[in-house]
Amino acid sequence: MKDFSVRPEIRDFEPYTPGLTIERIKELYGLDTVIKLASNENPLGASPVVQKVIARHAARTFRYPENHSPRLVAEIARSVGVPAECVVVGNGSDEIIDMLFRIRAVPGKSNVVCYEHCFSMYRMCAQLTGVEYREVQRGADFELPLDKMAEAADENTIMVFVTSPDNPTGQAAGVEDLSVLAGVLPPDCLLVVDEAYIDFVWPPESYTPVQAFDRFENLVALRTFSKAYGLAGLRVGFGIMPPSVAAHMKNSRIPFTVNLLAEEAAIAALDDDTFYNETLAVVMHGREYFLNELPRLGCRVWPSQANFVMFEPPMPARQVFESLLKRGIIVRPLASFGLGAMIRVNVGTDGENRAFLAALAEILGA
Ligand code: PMP
Repeated sequence: MKDFSVRPEIRDFEPYTPGLTIERIKELYGLDTVIKLASNENPLGASPVVQKVIARHAARTFRYPENHSPRLVAEIARSVGVPAECVVVGNGSDEIIDMLFRIRAVPGKSNVVCYEHCFSMYRMCAQLTGVEYREVQRGADFELPLDKMAEAADENTIMVFVTSPDNPTGQAAGVEDLSVLAGVLPPDCLLVVDEAYIDFVWPPESYTPVQAFDRFENLVALRTFSKAYGLAGLRVGFGIMPPSVAAHMKNSRIPFTVNLLAEEAAIAALDDDTFYNETLAVVMHGREYFLNELPRLGCRVWPSQANFVMFEPPMPARQVFESLLKRGIIVRPLASFGLGAMIRVNVGTDGENRAFLAALAEILGA
């Protein structure tokens, strides 16, 4: 096959590796039913109310959506309590991360600061845009090293990324610590707080820096409809950011990346308190259950503020992952995060959680 030239950084690019789909697992292992607890999706599935809205708008899909989704932006602004000019919606929050790099990176000059064992998109986007990726070490129990992040930043640092709650460790950064960090960063540096799992923190007021928007001009918060709102397959997320950054992003972006059904579904999802609250109740209950039960099976667990739990089984993680897979249960081994001994499991329904723990007990002989 003829190989055409690409940019040097693309030739050695390490791709994002999503887990296998349920259909593929069924095929590979000859299974009829599969429980997927690997991608932090909503345990309740898609909201019935939202499904009806999607069906109702299906006939409109020959039309282009409205660029920048202003109706959805207005609903988000209302629900979060920020001005609409601060909100940009994207094809998943992944697209907002991508756009932040694309509008800010000066290849060969800029750098970003992240911490070890974090979400891989930040590194991917840095590599794609010729940005130096700086990684700060974490404490022995994976504490978020916020104090060290400011030290690693300099006048060429365009962004500092904090995932709160963190994927895959489940740790969350307190609003006060985030405010301190925002206050000591270099003048041209944005503090990007990736809040993909913010809906699951408790108590909520202690964790999101969005209320500090008035005090700091350098905050960006990233949120998603993929988790608590159950819309991962439709791809909708958003960023809350300084109005000037939002304006540049909107001016330079590819049009129509949030499709018409995604916009309608997200508007309906914001209004569907019943589904949202039920999701939170199921996740918080399941999280407690995992945190209590996993140690009984000899696993080490870390406290979690997200819809998943990270644990270290008393047996090689790869072996545990494979054995669970053969029993039709998919979890996420964390070798790609540099945590080869660990596994991440997201909260499912009560039945799924019990099935997972029963299978794990059998594998561990506990
Ligand atoms: N940030 C983090 C920390 C995530 O774990 C994820 C989901 N894998 C995302 C962002 C992207 O979410 P979305 O589906 O909105 O692109």
